[in-house]
Amino acid sequence: MPNEIKVGNITVGRGEFKKGFIKGVELINNVSIDIPVMVMNGVEDGPTLLLMSTQHGIEIQGIEVIRKVMREKVKPNSLRGAIIGIPVGNPLAFMHHQYLSWIDNLDVGAVRADRPYGNTTERLAYALWSEAWSKADLIVNIHCNTRPDSLIYQWINIGNPKTKDKLWRMAKACGVTTIVSERRIREEEPPTLNNLASRKGIPVLLFELIDGRWISEPSTTVGVRAILNIMREFNMIDGEIEKQKEITIIPGINRFYGILRANRGGLIKFLKKPGKFINRGEIVAEIYDLYGDIIEKVKMPVDGYIWAYPCGQSLGTSGSLQAVQTGANIGYIFIHEEK
Ligand SMILES: [Zn+2]
Repeated sequence: MPNEIKVGNITVGRGEFKKGFIKGVELINNVSIDIPVMVMNGVEDGPTLLLMSTQHGIEIQGIEVIRKVMREKVKPNSLRGAIIGIPVGNPLAFMHHQYLSWIDNLDVGAVRADRPYGNTTERLAYALWSEAWSKADLIVNIHCNTRPDSLIYQWINIGNPKTKDKLWRMAKACGVTTIVSERRIREEEPPTLNNLASRKGIPVLLFELIDGRWISEPSTTVGVRAILNIMREFNMIDGEIEKQKEITIIPGINRFYGILRANRGGLIKFLKKPGKFINRGEIVAEIYDLYGDIIEKVKMPVDGYIWAYPCGQSLGTSGSLQAVQTGANIGYIFIHEEK
C-alpha cells in the first residue's frame, strides 16, 4: 500500500480520512455531475477495499452501509490498508430516481469502461475505473432488489482462477446466500468495469440488499456486518467474524437458473415468498386484468427458489409498479446445488 492514495481530487496520507469527488460529466447548462468519494487511509499496510453503491440509481441501501462503515465503525488509526467509498456510482441515474442514466438509458456497469472519449455513461464508467476500481485489491459492489420481501444474497463469479480464492473468502465472510457462477470472461468480451477488474485479478463481489428505495433494516445491519467481516477476514481490522442473523440464508452453493417472465399483461399478485423452497409446477404468481379476472397462473419451471420479484420495468427500472407486460421479468430463479 502506498503512503498516499490519490482518488479524484483528493490525496490521502497515512492515518487520514478525506471527502472529495471524481470528475464526472458536464450537462448542457455547464453543471458538473461528479461522483462523490470518501477515502480512509490506515496507519499500517493492508489491502485497498473499494465499496461502491448505487450503480443503479434507485438502489440506495448501500449508501447507508458505506456511511456507517466509514463514518462510524472504522477509524483510520485502527485500519490496515485503505477504504475507498463511492456512495453513488451512477449520479446520472440517482438524480432522476432512475435505474439507468437518464441521458442515454445506459448502465454504468454494462458499458465499456476504457473510453475517456466515449459516450456520456462510458465516460462515467471510465472515471470509475481509472480513479477507483483499478486502484483496489478487493471490491464490493452493493445493489438492492426493490421489494422488502426479497432475499438478501451475494453473487460471485469464480470462473477466473486469479480471483477465485479471494472471492470465496469474501463470500464466506459476508455470510449470506451465495449464488455462484463459473464463467470465464473471454478476451473478446467488452471491457466493462467487472471484466476489466477480472482481467486485472481484482475480485468483485456483488452484494444485493433489499427494499432498495428506502434506508431500512435488516439491510443496514446485514450490509455493515458483511463489510466488517470482509475487513476482518483480510486482516484490515481486528475482531472475529460475526455470523449473519435476522435473515433467511440458503447455505452452500446456489446457481442462477433463469428469469420467470410474463406471458400476459396486467396486475400481478405473488403467492410464494422469496427464499422459500418451491416445487416445479407450483403456482408462483397470478396475473389478472383490470376487471379482476385471472388471466395467467405463473408456474415454477424447476425445483428451486425465487430471490426477488422485480415486477414491472419502465426504462429498465425494475420495481416501478406491481404490474407486468408480456415478456416482463416476474422473478429471478435459483437452484440449490446438493453436495
Ligand atoms: Zn442493481
